[in-house]
Amino acid sequence: MLLKEKGYKLTEQRQIIWNIMMESLGEHLSTKDIWEIARKKDHTLGVATVYRTLQIMDELGMVTSFDKRDELNKYELNTEGKSSVHPHLICMGCEKIIDVAENLLISESIVKIHNKYNFEIKDIRVKCYGICAECAGKTIK
Ligand SMILES: [Zn+2]
Ligand SMILES: [Zn+2]
Repeated sequence: MLLKEKGYKLTEQRQIIWNIMMESLGEHLSTKDIWEIARKKDHTLGVATVYRTLQIMDELGMVTSFDKRDELNKYELNTEGKSSVHPHLICMGCEKIIDVAENLLISESIVKIHNKYNFEIKDIRVKCYGICAECAGKTIK
């Protein structure tokens, strides 16, 4: 457990939050979403604890925060092989977030920008806003 290795106390509440993140692999959860699940397991668990724990996990690279400045910030579990810089499709209808697995376009842009501006990109967040198939009443082909 990375928290312990890095010198953080692994409290029962932090463990609960971590378990929720692991169980929701591939999902994007807000602090409130996580808090609502966590509260069922420990009703004394406050939203501030969830917030702080996620911040620590984000710093340690255990989770990725979707956008820190965004009110609708969401967290997802970091997994091996899946880049945290994958693009996201955000539905303006239901606020669903869809991961785009194909990262080729972004990798190409990073190289192009580096060549032109000599700027080394460490992090890139691509968010595409639109309407999902469900909200549009269409089926995915
Ligand atoms: Zn939608
Ligand atoms: Zn994602």
